[in-house]
Amino acid sequence: MLKELSERAVKLKEELVDFMEAYVYPNEKVYTEQLSNQENRWQIPPIMEELKSKAKNKGLWNLFLPDEQYGAGLSNYEYAHLCEIMGRSLIAPEVFNCNAPDTGNMEVLVKYGTEEQKKQWLEPLLAGEIRSVFSMTEPAVASSDATNIQSSIVRDGDEYVINARKWWSTGAMDPRCKIAIVMGKTDPNAERHKQQSMILVPFDTPGVEVKRHLPVFGYDHAPNGHAEIHYNNVRVPASNILLGEGRGFEIAQGRLGPGRIHHCMRAIGAAERALELLITRANSREAFHSKLIDKDVIRAQIAESRIEIEQARLLTLHAANKIDQEGAKAARKEIAMIKIAAPRVALNVLDRAIEVYGGAGVSDDFPLAEHWANARTLRIVDGPDQVHLRDIGKLEVREQLLKETETELVGR
Ligand SMILES: Cc1cc2nc3c(=O)[nH]c(=O)nc-3n(C[C@H](O)[C@H](O)[C@H](O)COP(=O)(O)OP(=O)(O)OC[C@H]3O[C@@H](n4cnc5c(N)ncnc54)[C@H](O)[C@@H]3O)c2cc1C
Repeated sequence: MLKELSERAVKLKEELVDFMEAYVYPNEKVYTEQLSNQENRWQIPPIMEELKSKAKNKGLWNLFLPDEQYGAGLSNYEYAHLCEIMGRSLIAPEVFNCNAPDTGNMEVLVKYGTEEQKKQWLEPLLAGEIRSVFSMTEPAVASSDATNIQSSIVRDGDEYVINARKWWSTGAMDPRCKIAIVMGKTDPNAERHKQQSMILVPFDTPGVEVKRHLPVFGYDHAPNGHAEIHYNNVRVPASNILLGEGRGFEIAQGRLGPGRIHHCMRAIGAAERALELLITRANSREAFHSKLIDKDVIRAQIAESRIEIEQARLLTLHAANKIDQEGAKAARKEIAMIKIAAPRVALNVLDRAIEVYGGAGVSDDFPLAEHWANARTLRIVDGPDQVHLRDIGKLEVREQLLKETETELVGR
């Protein structure tokens, strides 16, 4: 049975739904138009700052952050319900200062930043004044296995020198981007999981070079964008290392659990919106002498979509609750399962909706095509499906064998 949602979370959910209806959906087109009518697409459409300011005034701000001092202090389970609503619109997460990768970066700074770093980077990030990137993935190696990361972070007196070739650093094209968290090796001879560290690199440090923009299925994701970045002999103070040398994996693990819940709940939100759009369209179009909505084949697609969405939501909420109760490590099988299930469901529902819309479905007149492109990348981002399948299989087999050994021991 689903755990009851706290009164506070129920109220926030209602306020969020109202805000989306009143301000977000009606301004999606405004945002796109402003973006296209600017001198270049790497500027912030004014409507975004207007919406952020409205959301902030209403207290719908930094809801993702479980820390009570800096954020809303909600559990993963509570926030998951809110995150789903934000996922319905591609512009919504930033409106509420709940967009990746800033959310994960802010969590890292809350947990591991010094007081000075919090003042310099966390506070303006929490205020939505600056943006950040997370630079882990490298073009030269299979980065889904983070032990492959080759970038070097070398101590030199009271500084570190960073040399790295990174790509798919989300947010790097944003003119407000001021800080990067970079992952690289401080000790290539240490034990495999102790070689990597994470370090703060101010984006205006000499040697930080944004080489090129990377579109996704042709979408530029302006004004945030993804980019290839070269870090060429970049020097930062030694105090910029986070948590200490060799602790990169530890930080990455803490960052990824809640981040995957966010991705999955947003995907479920996108699927819900797609189903709504599907029904609206099917109810307004006639083909071959009857409305689409009255055709059995369309009804069956609606039914399949509802079944899949409910399954994915329940599994994701279960994973969120398990993180709250037992920690991300204990919930790793559940997290891996949702990371596969939720994007698949979103893709299935979006695909059905696109089909019902016909040519309109693949156009930019409706948000379906862009949501589909996003959901497809989600099967790669934060660990590809194959890697999660491998982990689930491994855990399942281990649990079964453990049970058999226990039974054997009891039987002796
Ligand atoms: C839109 C987008 C945004 C991103 N944002 C960021 C970001 O902000 N910061 C960042 O650092 N990275 C980011 N990434 C990178 C993303 O996290 C990586 O692409 C992902 O981790 C996979 O790494 P890779 O591309 O090196 O693929 P590889 O590691 O080369 O893997 C390629 C494929 O190999 C297969 N494979 C891998 N391991 C196994 C296995 N054990 N068994 C069977 N098959 C396997 C899988 O099919 C996998 O998809 C982003 C990517 C995209 C597309």
